[in-house]
This record gives sequence, C-alpha cells and structure tokens, in this order.
Amino acid sequence: MLYEKLQNSLVHCHVCQWRCIIRPGKLGVCRMRQNKDGVLYVLNYGFASSVAVDPIEKKPLFHFYPGSRVYSLGTLGCNFHCVDCQNWQIACVDFGQRELEQVSAARAVAQTRQHKCRGIAWTYNEPAIWFEYTYDCARLAKEHNLYTVYVTNGYMTPEALDTIGSHLDAYRVDIKGFSDAFYRKLAKVSKWRGILDVAERALKKWDMHIEVVTNVVPTMNDDDEQLTGIAAWIRDHLGEVTPWHVTRFYPNYQLMNIPPTPVATLEKAYNIGKKAGLKFVYLGNVPGHDGENTDCHSCGRQVIKRLGYQTDIVGLEGSRCRYCGADLNIKTEGWKRNISGPREVPEAAPKGNHE
Ligand code: SF4
Repeated sequence: MLYEKLQNSLVHCHVCQWRCIIRPGKLGVCRMRQNKDGVLYVLNYGFASSVAVDPIEKKPLFHFYPGSRVYSLGTLGCNFHCVDCQNWQIACVDFGQRELEQVSAARAVAQTRQHKCRGIAWTYNEPAIWFEYTYDCARLAKEHNLYTVYVTNGYMTPEALDTIGSHLDAYRVDIKGFSDAFYRKLAKVSKWRGILDVAERALKKWDMHIEVVTNVVPTMNDDDEQLTGIAAWIRDHLGEVTPWHVTRFYPNYQLMNIPPTPVATLEKAYNIGKKAGLKFVYLGNVPGHDGENTDCHSCGRQVIKRLGYQTDIVGLEGSRCRYCGADLNIKTEGWKRNISGPREVPEAAPKGNHE
C-alpha cells in the first residue's frame, strides 16, 4: 500500500515521512520494506515479535477506557533509530534476526476477545512499520466493536493516517522534544515537524483520542524552552484537555552514560505544562507519585487513583466528574468518534526527507 513505481524499477514508499526511494534489492530506512524487482514488499506482515495483554495505562493512555485490558502487538523494525530506545532489541534489528510469531488479523481479533481485552494496540515498535497489517487488523477489530490504538512516534504520512483513519480510535504520540537539533541528535531525523501536523490531523480530521508522551532526558530535552514549546503547542493545536505524560528516562541502549531523570525535573515539566494551561499533566515511570492520579480540573477532587498499573476509578460518571459534572475528556463505553463533516486540517507534512 501507499507506494509508487518509478523508472528503472525504483519504488517510492509513502507510508512514513522518510518517503524512501528504494533501489531494486534494497531496503527502506525501516529495514522492513524491500524493493524486489520493482515491487515493494513488506517483510514483516503478520509477524509479531511481542504479544501481550496489557493494562491500557501501560501505553500510557490515562483517558481512554481507563482500567481496560488491551491486546498488544509489536513487530520488528523502526523508522527512527533513537539513542535512548527502550525496545532496541526489536526496533533496531533486521528481519530474520529474532524469532517471530505469526498472528493473522483474524487470530489477533479472536485472541483479543478470548483474553477479554477491550481492544487492540500496535505498540512496542513503530506501528507504521507494518502498516498494512495494522490496517487489516484495525478494520476487522472495528467490525467486532473493539477499540484500536496506535502507540507511535508520529512519523507516518498524512495519507497513511487518512488510509487507516476511520479504523483507528486512539493515537498515543510522542513529541520527543521541540528543536531540530534535539530530534537530529536523538532520532537522526532533521525534518520532524510533520509529526505535529499529522497529530493535529488525527484530532481534527479523524476525531481520534490523543495523548502525548515526552520522555524527559537530562541535558537533552529537559530545558525550559523545549518543554514550554511542547506544552504550548499541545494547548494551541490539540487543546488544553489533551493529556501530556512526562516520563522518566532510564539509561538504555546507546545512552548508558546519562543518569535517570531526577523527579524534580519531571515536577518542573509538570509545572510548565500546568502553567501553559494544560489540564492533565502526568508523571510517568515514578510509581506512587501523586502525578499519576487524575484530578478534576474544575473542583480539584480526585477522580482516578493510580499506583503503577493499578487503576481505581473513584469519581467518574461516564467521562465527567462525579462531583461537579466537569467534562474530563475521558473516553469510556459509549464513546463514538465524530468523523463527519468538513474539518480544518493542517497542510500535508513536508515531502522527501531521504532518498
Ligand atoms: S522508512 Fe518509512 S518511507 Fe522508508 S520504507 Fe520504511 S515505511 Fe517506507
């Protein structure tokens, strides 16, 4: 899907914003799409590296069917090569280097129902890397009244988003930092702002539920300027009720020399988010911290209490605060997306980062 054939048996992939032009026999940046004699093949279709039943809070999604279980699938490969990757064993390898389990779309849906999960998430690595598989699964999942979730670095193209848009309910997107230099250093990506356009499009064109994650890495993206930039962008483009998770970095992969994020730094990020006007800012990877809980932005009462992945709903009436009736942008049973009618969406993301 989403590729074109060019002269001399070249192919042009439009699944993500790299928009790779691939020579015969070669792979794209993600190393999971290969040009074989002028035809682009997806190597990892239906091959899972990781399959698990998770709490939805693990994604993290705090305002989307809280307390539900989600059938979670990941494959191999990524279009980013982040120096702090938490899942580098599956993201930064070639096809064939890991044992994989074949999970057809029909089996994924059957397993979701069998394990009494409320929906399916494509997670652990970038979902767009097996876009066609997620598309087939998501279509089938919606036929069975399951919710569907992308946990994504946000680098898919607008046309990929539009292709899967009507079948995808939640978009848990990273905004990893807010400067060209940072994205270049962390993920080796220069033109990253298309991530913002596509996230806004997911909300405004497709009415997806959106939550944003920023993993705060000491000395890399913990400065006030970037954190303020992210918070202000979320407020202005996704809305002040969009949850923002600021999570604790732990030394990983090629960043073993940087210590874990001090909790005080995360609290600073929390305060920056609140000062910018965001109603829901959460601290991640700090179990037991008060910043894991959901308080009503209107009356201040606690409505969801969390300890790690233990979730207790203590003050909700549907998506509203039980005490004062404020709308808390929490999607629960009965929620339906509104994807009818014309909506203002940002321009398409910039084209052609790579050949
Ligand atoms: S990196 Fe992106 S554009 Fe390149 S082949 Fe992979 S999915 Fe396609």
